[in-house]
Amino acid sequence: MKSEEQSATFATATPEPQSSNLAASRGRPPFIERRSADRRASRQLPASILTPPTPPPAPHLADYRNIVGQSTLDGLRFLARELKGKTIKMVNSTAVGGGVAEMLNRLVPLLSELEVATHWDVITGGNDFFEVTKAFHNALHGAPYELTKAAQEIFLMYTEQNRERMKFEENLVVIHDPQPVGLIGSRQQTSASWVWRCHLDLSNPDARVWEFFRPIIEQYDAAIFSAPSFARQLPIPQYLFYPCIDPLSEKNKDLPDFQVQRVCDDFGIDRSRPIVTQVSRFDRLKDPVGVVQAYKLAKKYVDCQLVLAGGGATDDPEGATVLQEVKDAAGNDPDIIILDLPPWCALEINAIQRASTIIVQKSLKEGFGLTVTEALWKGKPVIAGAVGGIPNQIIHKLTGVLVHSVEGCAFQIRYLLTHPEFARTIGINGREHVKENFLMTTNVKRWLLLFRTLEERKARQPKSRFPTT
Ligand code: UDP
Repeated sequence: MKSEEQSATFATATPEPQSSNLAASRGRPPFIERRSADRRASRQLPASILTPPTPPPAPHLADYRNIVGQSTLDGLRFLARELKGKTIKMVNSTAVGGGVAEMLNRLVPLLSELEVATHWDVITGGNDFFEVTKAFHNALHGAPYELTKAAQEIFLMYTEQNRERMKFEENLVVIHDPQPVGLIGSRQQTSASWVWRCHLDLSNPDARVWEFFRPIIEQYDAAIFSAPSFARQLPIPQYLFYPCIDPLSEKNKDLPDFQVQRVCDDFGIDRSRPIVTQVSRFDRLKDPVGVVQAYKLAKKYVDCQLVLAGGGATDDPEGATVLQEVKDAAGNDPDIIILDLPPWCALEINAIQRASTIIVQKSLKEGFGLTVTEALWKGKPVIAGAVGGIPNQIIHKLTGVLVHSVEGCAFQIRYLLTHPEFARTIGINGREHVKENFLMTTNVKRWLLLFRTLEERKARQPKSRFPTT
């Protein structure tokens, strides 16, 4: 096992000063080597990131004007007009953490600002419930799973508890993901339209778990998936809603250069030389070791640094193993900077992405790949694995480049670093692609359109489905 000092690693669990590796000079001008290595040697993980920052207040619709233009905002107001006074309930399983909660945090106030009052409720459950739903989640993603009667009973028992506790008085009820899916049992007591918003990739689920969920899902008026390939055959209408990013969030808002510089100084990233970055959890499916290998191949021809910014390794045993594998692969290269960041480092990730010359997302399997969206939004040339939802975002050689191997990734790193005009062009195109398709404002538009469609459909339906009281 190699020691931690061999690559420039910063970890939340070990905020000691990092040792330098000046001995590992590789023939670059000594002043560059010394400056970069000095930074890495002298810095601890900055104290500013050891505790979560206070979240900034949610933006208002008008704050998006400079980004998407007045006409887009007018379009949203126009679509919302017919829905004025109507109400939505969103239900998921957690108020904090994870992409769904992050997205609802923004979506709910924006819809409400458009006078479509939107309420957000979170189901509750014991550890046993969340253990079962975590296993269901993995099984729906394709992991083998022995579906027991006990697991089904736990799921149904907490579903009943939540049904008894919750009221559904809104016009549209949106249930996110499998954990609260059983709330559809309350449908007959309401006149609402019920929609299941699935953020999972259901393309290859464990058959028994899918058979458990399928009859429940079929009771909904519609289902929404994040990519065509994630959906399944269902007898109800299905809609495609791409995931989205918020351009005003800490992760994506514009940053002044001094802030980008401060973060680079803190982490020992040298902005005078090319920076190739992958931001990802330390997970084998993100192939961080493949990224190190690609960097090493490219490095034979072009100078660059590699930044691998990830997180979760301290509280996930598998993450810690993968992090160690990455360190082993990095060896004693002082130009590989491995950052194990706490989960609240949105601003730091934003700055690192902005400082990067190229962003890589060399996943072997991927859901949608929000890190790709974030990088494209920052106008960066992106090299990414042609898997999951990534090809929806990266049109090869137009909005980024797709790769299928370590060698392909190495070739593209070398090519983009030596063809800056092309790199710039795909970066510009990528940002436009995100602006059109993957921003929060587009998501708001999709919800408004769907809500109108469902209301119109309901108006055409016989009234007998609804309670008479
Ligand atoms: N992310 C983060 N810290 C990390 C690694 C990732 O905040 O250390 C963020 C990243 O910026 C993105 C999200 O987590 O917003 C990851 O989403 P993605 O769809 O790329 O992958 P997932 O982790 O959901 O498989």
